[in-house]
Amino acid sequence: MRIDIITVVPELLDSPLNESILKRAREKGLVEIVIHNLRDYTDDKRRTVDDYPFGGEAGMVMKIEPVYRCIEHLKSERHYDEIIFTSPDGIRYDQHEANRLSTLENIIILCGHYKGIDFRIREHLITREISIGDYVLTGGELAAAIITDSVVRLLPGAIGDEESALTDCFQDDLLAPPIYTRPADFNGWKVPEVLTSGNFAEIEKWQEEQSYERTRALRPDLLER
Ligand code: SAH
Repeated sequence: MRIDIITVVPELLDSPLNESILKRAREKGLVEIVIHNLRDYTDDKRRTVDDYPFGGEAGMVMKIEPVYRCIEHLKSERHYDEIIFTSPDGIRYDQHEANRLSTLENIIILCGHYKGIDFRIREHLITREISIGDYVLTGGELAAAIITDSVVRLLPGAIGDEESALTDCFQDDLLAPPIYTRPADFNGWKVPEVLTSGNFAEIEKWQEEQSYERTRALRPDLLER
């Protein structure tokens, strides 16, 4: 898989995409992540990528030309399955969307900044608009990092234990059961007995029950889907 991220602040994406599981996934060649500095796609001497909004509102707007150039340049090199814009008014990001994106070959993620981007970019170049929640960030970079992180960990081989991603929260619309490790008794705080019983059928049954119970208690909306 290849993920191209277009940004005016590439530095914001450095560490989230270069440590731990993402770092290893990139080293193993499971994913190629390429960061593009939007300022490299302007002829402007001062490398300006924003301008005042028509209508005289407060805040600066990302200009259409550099974004258009960058996206067209990428599209001339390969086919993109999805060209995503991170936006608070996009569809709400969830595990279903992460699963879907992880099956695609090439995607672009465009990060907004300042007041936002010229709306024509959204009308003519973008194929999907994604919000990571009902709050406003200073830029789309952290949203892009979240999308990338959640997608890359789903790629086969990214996580050591292949099954691990399948038993996470939200796969099957259920929350994950509680997990524990040694010691089985810490100052009297005990691990549920069934987990140390060695009876795998019982353990599986317990985990399933816990999943349903926790989902019913904490996120009943998931069960209604
Ligand atoms: N004026 C815009 C907010 C601009 S915030 C509005 O009211 O909708 C600047 C940029 O941060 C946005 O263009 C978007 O790319 C990103 N951003 C902010 N909040 C976000 C969210 N919840 N999800 C995804 N991207 C977000």
